[in-house]
Amino acid sequence: MPLEYKRVLLKLSGEALAGDKKFGLDYDIVTDICKSLKKCVALGAQIGIVVGGGNFFRGRSSLQMDRARADHMGMLATVMNSLAIADGLEAQQVPVRVQTAITMQQIAEPYIRNRAIRHLEKGRVVVFGCGTGNPYFSTDTASSLRAAEIDADIILKATMVDGVYDCDPNKYSNAVKYEKVSFQEVLEKGLGVMDSTAAAMCRDNKIPVLVFSLADPDNILRAIKGEKIGTIVKE
Ligand code: UDP
Repeated sequence: MPLEYKRVLLKLSGEALAGDKKFGLDYDIVTDICKSLKKCVALGAQIGIVVGGGNFFRGRSSLQMDRARADHMGMLATVMNSLAIADGLEAQQVPVRVQTAITMQQIAEPYIRNRAIRHLEKGRVVVFGCGTGNPYFSTDTASSLRAAEIDADIILKATMVDGVYDCDPNKYSNAVKYEKVSFQEVLEKGLGVMDSTAAAMCRDNKIPVLVFSLADPDNILRAIKGEKIGTIVKE
């Protein structure tokens, strides 16, 4: 079966890496994600990854701190997750490079677009750390930015829920899942797909987003193959 999407930007929330612990890293989850990614790479998929940092630190949650400084800490949290993913991929013999938007060359490569694309072409997974490198942004925005820069076919947004609902399915039992929804609707109704900056960027640059659950990490493989899962956001 040919791949539906050849080059993808996978967004993993920090929360998803913590599992039931809700904080830090659940290595079994990291390993399962990396095993699924190995299958995707074996089929020829080119994968860039943006990881969140919410399992360690979120700038907007620490109200006592100066926001920009708190966001710097949040960005450092994304680097910890990026390194964990890289480690998990290497353990599966998947070639990987970490590139950070804020240089820390003893730890990772600096983000250089052409170099990232070259890595992808050579079959290496590229993990983008530090989000956009700027405070007041999110890793969702970083996903849309990097997806545009590497000319990704789609953003695969792996989350804790299995798609986009008209209201919070954890609160309302009558919540209805969308199969397909437009960015305009996401923005107008404030649907919990991604923040508005990221959604507007995807809309303006015509980058579709597939939202699906990471409860089964092989959903990443299913998504890349084009199997019907989750909710597609486009146009
Ligand atoms: N962050 C930032 N700029 C960016 C991306 C992230 O300042 O471009 C910081 C921000 O503090 C954010 C934290 O990093 O709260 C972790 O990212 P995010 O909240 O997007 O992670 P997730 O919720 O997906 O785990």
